[in-house]
This record gives sequence, structure tokens and C-alpha cells, in this order.
Amino acid sequence: MTAILDSGTEQSKPIEHTRLFIDGAWADARDGGEIPVVNPATGDVFVSVAEAREADVDLAVAAARRAFDSGPWPAMKPNERARILWRLAELIERDAEELARLTTLENGKPYAQSMRIDVGGSVKAFQYFSGWATKVTGATIPLSTPGDYHAYTQREPLGVCALIVPWNYPLSNAAWKIGPALAAGNTAVLKPAEATPLTALRLAELAMKAGLPPGVLNVVPGYGPSAGAALAAHPLVDKVSFTGSTATGRAIATASLGNFKRVTLELGGKSPNIIFADADIEAATAGAAAAIFSNMGEQCVAGSRLYVEESVFDEVVAGVAAIGAGMRIGDGFDPRTEVGPLVSDEHLARVTGYLRSGVEQGATLVSGGERVGERGFYLQPTVFTDVTPDMRIVAEEIFGPVVVATPFREVGDLVTAANDSPYGLAAGVWTRDVTRAHTMSRALRAGVVWVNCYGVFDPALPFGGFKESGWGREMGYDVMQHYTESKSTVIKLG
Ligand code: NAD
Repeated sequence: MTAILDSGTEQSKPIEHTRLFIDGAWADARDGGEIPVVNPATGDVFVSVAEAREADVDLAVAAARRAFDSGPWPAMKPNERARILWRLAELIERDAEELARLTTLENGKPYAQSMRIDVGGSVKAFQYFSGWATKVTGATIPLSTPGDYHAYTQREPLGVCALIVPWNYPLSNAAWKIGPALAAGNTAVLKPAEATPLTALRLAELAMKAGLPPGVLNVVPGYGPSAGAALAAHPLVDKVSFTGSTATGRAIATASLGNFKRVTLELGGKSPNIIFADADIEAATAGAAAAIFSNMGEQCVAGSRLYVEESVFDEVVAGVAAIGAGMRIGDGFDPRTEVGPLVSDEHLARVTGYLRSGVEQGATLVSGGERVGERGFYLQPTVFTDVTPDMRIVAEEIFGPVVVATPFREVGDLVTAANDSPYGLAAGVWTRDVTRAHTMSRALRAGVVWVNCYGVFDPALPFGGFKESGWGREMGYDVMQHYTESKSTVIKLG
């Protein structure tokens, strides 16, 4: 492990925003609670931010409520809303280096990835959703009912949206929710994950500078069981959009029943990545490694179950293992780093627990499997073979750089195995046979199927899960429907 750029240097630069952002102003937490923020590269707490609890959540929701019920935002001309969201994208671009620095500091991922994926993805999201502000329309409906009527539908904003996000892509997960929520004319309360509140607070500052009126976006760092639960149950919140674990998604769905909030959930995954023998094996092997090892495997769509046609199984597994073993593990601020630390001590313990269970349940550890160093939360990219469906490493989401590889012979058996999961978020297929590409896409129970590629995202492309991977979709026009409600108007003519 190398560290030519000591993140201590990065830590020593001041962190500007550590207070709650409510009603267009920075605010202390009501009871003075604090969240320590840990640098995953060192394990050190480098700053603390104000911790929102129920009383703070009440204030934030009240501000968002006022901004929706009597504020200028929902009534504003759509092109004005579009202009402000586009301006926000420009400000994120302007401050890209600072936002990427904060992302790597709080999450640990390599700085180049923070810049390209988290910051770059957020810019693209705000640009794209800015465009939707002027394009959400209804329809005129020809009625067969006796009489003469003019009937039409409109899509109206829902009201106050609670946006609850995880720590793996802290900025872009927030952007994917704030963009469509605000483009549609809603107001929002964002609760970042406790591990990664800094980018969200910085985003609040930029949103204010972009011209967002007070109360339209509020940011309340806080813990899930307190601030998150208070938002999910809040009677003045109209919608919850949540990204995180399936267990928390279930709690949120239950909590939201009180006032039948609209709910969208982007949850966990255990995605199959399938390589046929006719594929470009070099590209497929590199793709399989990237599908599980990028972002330290802390990806909901991680290609964590690798299925390889028997005749090329050994070659592919050896290739993926070699790529994993050759990846440079280190501080995210070291430009040579390809794999940063996992996000936290607890998460590292959870993932290493899975590694132990794999060995105990009889899987073969092909490569990796070890923690790296004693300081920071580093783990080797890991490959297991000789796995069976009942093993925890096969059945459960690990959310780390750990892949289980299984050979297949028959396509029917393969499809059964690939779909044998409560999750249905994503899948990969590698083949040169175009018919097989389409038939596999039909057969796989997943919200997205990538063929001869993996992890391709675009703000225009709907994303979300089948089965226990969630409710609804993010991105594209689909998500605009999840942030608006249809209203029908019928006018009797004469
Ligand atoms: P998590 O569910 O523990 O936490 C996510 C967020 O929910 C955090 O902000 C947390 O504070 C909050 N939260 C926790 N308990 C809550 C409660 N009772 N009520 C309201 N909010 C609560 O998930 P995590 O460990 O931070 O993230 C990893 C999980 O997220 C993985 O399962 C991963 O697959 C999933 N994820 C899914 C997607 C997707 O788009 N499908 C994307 C990224 C991550």
C-alpha cells in the first residue's frame, strides 16, 4: 500500500460547512448533537457536523412545507426553475475539485473516481433534470361519456419530498433525487448518510448561490433511526425517495403508511454477471473485474455473482483474480490508487465477516481475502469459487469487493441460478450472439441488463429494481412521474 499524497494534507484544509441547512440558512442542532466524520483512509475523525434529530427534522419539514404551500418555487415559471437547476450544475462544475476532495475525504474512494463519477455524474444529472422542468405535460382525453366535455390531465408536484441517501455515492445519489424533485416543482429535505454529510452540505451552499429560494432544499445530516425515521413518518412529508439497504427500505415503507406517502425505493442487489464462451473473453474478464472491484464493490449494482460458461471458466476466473490482485490499494488521494478503503470500520468488519463465512461454508478462496494494513479500512479484492447457492456469500449482498464465480453448461440452469435471488437490480451478459443477448435480457429478472458492458448509467436511462431491489425508477421520464401526481379536469361544454 502506498500513500504518496498524505490525506492529512487534505484534512488540514478547513471544512466550511458543518451545520444544518434549514430554510436557506445554516443552523445549529437543537440539542447540540454531533456526528463525527471519519476519514476511511486513516480511521481518524477529522471533523464533526451538527446532528439533526426529530426537532430539527420538524423545522426542516416546516420550511419545505412553507416553501411549497406559499413560497415561489412551485408557482415559478418552469424555465426559471430550469435556469436555477442549470446554474447549480455550473456551480458544481466550478467547485468540482472541492466537491471531489470532500467525497474522497468522507467516503475514501479514489479522487479521480470522485471527480469523474460522483461530481461529473451530479453535473450531468442537474443539467438533464433542468430540461425536464419545461417538459412535464399532461394530455387531452377524448371522453365517450354522453355529453360534450373537454377533459385533460396535468402532472402536479407532490409537495414536500424527503430524500434519504446512502454513503457510497453521496453527491450523485443526492443529485439523482434533488434534480427531478425540484424540476417538478417540489420542495425537499435531504438526509445524507451519517458517514458522508459533507458533500451534501456543500451542495446546499451551491444551491443557495444558484438562486434556490429559502426552504426549497434543506439538508439535515443525522442518523437513520432518529432523523431518517422521523422524516419517513412525518405527517407533513408527501413523498419519500430512499436509496439504501432493503431492510431499511422495508422500515421506510412501513413508516410512510401513516399518511400514505408516495414512496420510491432503490435498494440492494446481488447482480449476476454472465460470460458466454463466445464473448470477447479479454473484454469480458476486464468487465467482470470492474463490475465488482470498482468503487471498492460498494455499489448496489456490483456484479457480485459471476457465471461463466464451463469451457472458459478457469481462464476468466484466473483473469479476474489477477486483475484484482494487481490493483493498487491505497489512500484515495494517491493518484496511483485504484482501490480505496471501505467506508467504515463497521462495514469492513461486516465484509470480513462474509469472507470468513465463505471459507467456513467450504468455498475456495482464489485470491484476496485479507485486510490490508492496520490503519484505515482497506481490503483486498477477493474471488471465491466452489460456491453453492446456500452459502451466505452467494445469497446475501456483501457490498464489498468480493465476487463468487460459478461455471455453467446449460442456459436453462443458468437462468434459473441467475434469477435465484430476492434481488433484481442489474445483470450483465457477455456474448457475441445477438439473439442470445436479447433472449437473455428477456429472461433475466432485473431492472437493467448490460450486454458487453457493465455499469453504464445515464440520466436519461431509467434505473431501478425488480423484486426486493425496490419500488419505482430513478432517471429518465420515469422518475418525473414519481415526483408528480396526475390530475384530471373535466369541463362540460354547453
Ligand atoms: P442503509 O439503509 O443503512 O442507509 C441508507 C440511508 O438510510 C442512510 O442515510 C441512513 O441514515 C438511512 N436510514 C437508516 N435507517 C433508517 C430508518 N430506520 N429510517 C429512515 N432512514 C434510515 O444503507 P447503507 O448501508 O448506508 O447503504 C448500503 C445499501 O444501499 C446497500 O444495500 C446498497 O445496495 C444500497 N444502495 C442501493 C442503490 C440503488 O440505487 N439501488 C444505490 C446505492 C446503494
